[in-house]
Amino acid sequence: MERRLRSSSSSALRFACVGSGPAGMYITEKLLSLLGKEQKLGRSGSDDATNDNDRDRSKRVHVEVDIFEKEFSPYGLVRFGVAPDHASTKNVTNKFDTILKDSRVRFFGNVKVGETTATKRTMKEDEVGADVLTVSVRELLGVYSGVVLAHGAADNDRKIGLEREDELKGVYGARQFVNWFNGLPSAAPSNDKELHESICERLGYVSSTNTKASDVVVIGVGNVALDCARILLRSTEELAETDIATHALVALKSANVSSVTIIGRRSVAQAKFSPKELREVLALPNIDVEIDDLEVSDEDVEEMNASRPRRRAFEVLEKAKTTKTTKEEGEEEDGKNSKRKVLRILFLKSPTSLIANENNNKSLAFVKVRKNILKGETGNRKAVLSTNEDDEMTLPCDILIRSVGYVGDRIEPSVVQSDMNGTIAHDGQGRAQINETTINDINNANLYVCGWAKRGANGVIATNVQCAEETAFAIREDFYTGKITTKSKSAIDNTLSIALNKNKNKSESSSDLNKWKKNPLIITSERWFKIDEFERSRGRLSPRKKLVSINDLDGIFT
Ligand SMILES: Cc1cc2nc3c(=O)[nH]c(=O)nc-3n(C[C@H](O)[C@H](O)[C@H](O)COP(=O)(O)OP(=O)(O)OC[C@H]3O[C@@H](n4cnc5c(N)ncnc54)[C@H](O)[C@@H]3O)c2cc1C
Repeated sequence: MERRLRSSSSSALRFACVGSGPAGMYITEKLLSLLGKEQKLGRSGSDDATNDNDRDRSKRVHVEVDIFEKEFSPYGLVRFGVAPDHASTKNVTNKFDTILKDSRVRFFGNVKVGETTATKRTMKEDEVGADVLTVSVRELLGVYSGVVLAHGAADNDRKIGLEREDELKGVYGARQFVNWFNGLPSAAPSNDKELHESICERLGYVSSTNTKASDVVVIGVGNVALDCARILLRSTEELAETDIATHALVALKSANVSSVTIIGRRSVAQAKFSPKELREVLALPNIDVEIDDLEVSDEDVEEMNASRPRRRAFEVLEKAKTTKTTKEEGEEEDGKNSKRKVLRILFLKSPTSLIANENNNKSLAFVKVRKNILKGETGNRKAVLSTNEDDEMTLPCDILIRSVGYVGDRIEPSVVQSDMNGTIAHDGQGRAQINETTINDINNANLYVCGWAKRGANGVIATNVQCAEETAFAIREDFYTGKITTKSKSAIDNTLSIALNKNKNKSESSSDLNKWKKNPLIITSERWFKIDEFERSRGRLSPRKKLVSINDLDGIFT
């Protein structure tokens, strides 16, 4: 902290970044390298400097970025989305660590941005959030040169639209399931006991008298659907070598999953999964593969010819259908996990109804699916349910995971957001629209957006590089035209001191500007790197053992 305070300058462009996922980390890097005087960020920063013209160089100023993150850990979906068995994908955090260690960057973990009255929060989230500090976008707009929203769009799962989808035990969104196995604090047993116990029970885990194997159905044919299937099909010996949350590993070790069926509403030609991820799941040992409705029409061929990854995915599946033979019951391939599991992939089907257990009307037992017919112009065909009742089948289903997309929550009234997916309205380059009536007391409020909050929940980690760059260019342009100006550090620290102390230390004076820095609930980057070191030291076979609750942090910083 000392080092940080010394390196800051009184006259500087100061930005607040909301969210520390890939978008937040890349925009921080871009702001420092495009506008900042110092070039400390390695290759991409130096490249930018080399390409800059003289006008750009003469305009460089001191730049600082404060990153606000609602979780105690940084990096968003790299930690809580990317599957635990994809360790190499997570290597991008090495680059993010460098950004977080830059003396011009401050990290405020466990600080949620947004006005809670305007945020749709559940009771459960409020309980979990009791220790989360908050500051509003309005408050940030009032003191920073600019505020960049990079808070993603991973707050809710899209629904399928089936009756009782929200209430039957056994129906989960992919986001819920992924959060659970990746150790997101709000989905961990200490915070959401009900979710944990329900997943364990449905996996065939809790009851010693329960000998029934579980059948899982995943709706959706994207990479997230494949991640969920793979985690359920992979041996737990292999999972133990990953950073999967301990509670999930324990549950999966005792689980009794016999089949995973992945269902796509359109044909193989429109499936979103990447050939690489498909190959990975199909190559798992001890699984029998069944693939239905792989035949392709002339329109499918035309569509696949226009997209190499789709063509390749089809070829991978076609090959698997002909070469992966079904083994005799109990026969083993690797001797590790004697129970064989079935992976079924069905195309051109949609779920039409959920059927509860005869003996327990609150638990899912079957899902009915019906054939679809594709209608419309090639390249834009829609799935339409067959009207023939003979085209319907009933699948046993203890767990149904809907993997049909993520959507973001509302952040607060000062921000203009889409009701459809929570994305922030912007000018096409990342200048976010502000609800003027809510900020008429603020002079020169500058709001920007990047990442999933800008584009919606799509694209891989690398997609956010270009997205952040586009927004950073817009910010640089606004600096050149004089719209963005330098701001005072003391005004920022004063605002943060009041905002971040309001939750906890109501009786204490907010006039002590530095009080918030001592608040143990604020996870600074120094504190995060101690947590990081601790997690890594606990992983024996695995890269790390994640801490899954703010209460687990006790004693780490001493
Ligand atoms: C299950 C899953 C698996 C994936 N696997 C891969 C993969 O293997 N490879 C790949 O390249 N891509 C993968 N992706 C895509 C990749 O994760 C995204 O492209 C990327 O994370 C989006 O970056 P983001 O910063 O916009 O959002 P996020 O990563 O969601 O980051 C947003 C951050 O903002 C924080 N935040 C949210 N609201 C607030 C608030 N109000 N105040 C403060 N902080 C807030 C969040 O906690 C989070 O840290 C996967 C996505 C998912 C969902």
